[in-house]
Amino acid sequence: MSAPDRRVDLFVIGAGSGGVRAARIAAGYGARVMVAEEYRVGGTCVIRGCVPKKLLVYASRFGHEFEDAAGFGWSVAAPAFDWASLIANKDREIARLEAAYTATLGKAGVDLVKSRAVLEDAHTVRLEATGERVRAEHVLIATGAVPHLGPAIPGIEHVISSNEALHLEALPTRVLVQGGGYIAVEFASIFAGLGSQVTLVYRGENILRGFDDDVRQHVREEFEKRGVQVITGNTVAAVEPSGRHYTAHLSGGLQVAADTVMFAIGRPPNVRGLGLETVGVRLATNGGIAVDDYSATSVPGIWAVGDVTNRVNLTPVAIREGHAFADTVFGGKPTKVDHASIPTAVFTEPEVGVIGLTEAQARDQIGDVDIYRTRFRPMKATLSGRDTAVLLKLVVDAATDRVVGCHIVGEGAGEMIQLVGIAVRMGATKADFDATMAVHPTAAEELVTMRQPTVRHRREAAE
Ligand SMILES: Cc1cc2nc3c(=O)[nH]c(=O)nc-3n(C[C@H](O)[C@H](O)[C@H](O)COP(=O)(O)OP(=O)(O)OC[C@H]3O[C@@H](n4cnc5c(N)ncnc54)[C@H](O)[C@@H]3O)c2cc1C
Repeated sequence: MSAPDRRVDLFVIGAGSGGVRAARIAAGYGARVMVAEEYRVGGTCVIRGCVPKKLLVYASRFGHEFEDAAGFGWSVAAPAFDWASLIANKDREIARLEAAYTATLGKAGVDLVKSRAVLEDAHTVRLEATGERVRAEHVLIATGAVPHLGPAIPGIEHVISSNEALHLEALPTRVLVQGGGYIAVEFASIFAGLGSQVTLVYRGENILRGFDDDVRQHVREEFEKRGVQVITGNTVAAVEPSGRHYTAHLSGGLQVAADTVMFAIGRPPNVRGLGLETVGVRLATNGGIAVDDYSATSVPGIWAVGDVTNRVNLTPVAIREGHAFADTVFGGKPTKVDHASIPTAVFTEPEVGVIGLTEAQARDQIGDVDIYRTRFRPMKATLSGRDTAVLLKLVVDAATDRVVGCHIVGEGAGEMIQLVGIAVRMGATKADFDATMAVHPTAAEELVTMRQPTVRHRREAAE
């Protein structure tokens, strides 16, 4: 085999959340860094994930705001919505961000190549665009995850993923979304807010598996109040075209008519065709690249961060892992990432913000648990007349009084949980919450004014 064309200290495969951060920090430590990106710089979050989605979320919330304004004395002429303008504006913002990410890498001295990259051996990467081979002391795999449409049911070729949903030519009148995770419910909420008739189909018994049961039920009820039809215990068995529309046949026998059928049923780690088998990089049982606490793979010199490792698939986690990798390998500061108690949000309407243990997890792991829960009509709904409720819930370890979980559904829940998250991670007790003065009038004040437990769970004494 001929000698490699170039030599670097670090070769990063994938310029997404984890790869960009790792490249930039490693270059800051003086490493010669090259990054390969096969699609667009910024990765899933910037190009077809968190950012475009959140822009659509904002758009989707105006409809209700216009309606709610009437109760506060406003008269708003029948508002009109233009999908094409929204998508064009969103695309312009994404292009701006992509350019900013590219510039940041350039300023850091990172060499960016627009190409798919694959491993030839533990220290050689091949750029598919040019055939060039690069020798690297260290290789970081940060290739993310990809949407997966599930089994090849009849008509699967008509089904789109979240990637295409961000680029539809027109707002569909009727949308069927299959899935129960945060991406499925967020898109269901976006389409419903923009005026589509939405059916959400999920195979399990309730949406948002893994979230606290009260949160799952609350979101479902709020969806139903907003006209989203939630069908659980079913899967889409076939998608049949009828004219320019589709009929989705569900496993339980129901038929749903839709202009767009979108599946958001999982995002497997992007490990295919990278040459991992050739090099001997081991996969974990969940399909992600197996790594240790420092993101080292089974092959010395090869590292992996972000969704491709299938640890916690969120942007801030990928960024933290990328940063920790660079500190460990190039900064002389071995750094682990703590994956416990990660605050997270679901940008549905109403929004969800959670951190820590669910009630069921706490009962399982701790045993003696006090639950503080309140559901109330938010003040804004009194004049708007909207039928909606806020849910606030604290899960407290009864032995230590520590707040081990906080679950919020309501306007601004994502913003609230970022701040509550600090207190929870610091080990705040329920007494600390109680001692904090309320901010009045807010919804969040109820977090510090719930005095009596709603439920006290006690582990049964051993025989
Ligand atoms: C619709 C949607 C909404 C989301 N919303 C949120 C949210 O609100 N909050 C949140 O925290 N997270 C959200 N996420 C998850 C978040 O986007 C990911 O966790 C994050 O992007 C993972 O970063 P990463 O660096 O692991 O991979 P990515 O950002 O996916 O980057 C991987 C990059 O590698 C490139 N690549 C892959 N293979 C190769 C190759 N062989 N050669 C060269 N380049 C390659 C890809 O093109 C891609 O650019 C969302 C995801 C989706 C799909």
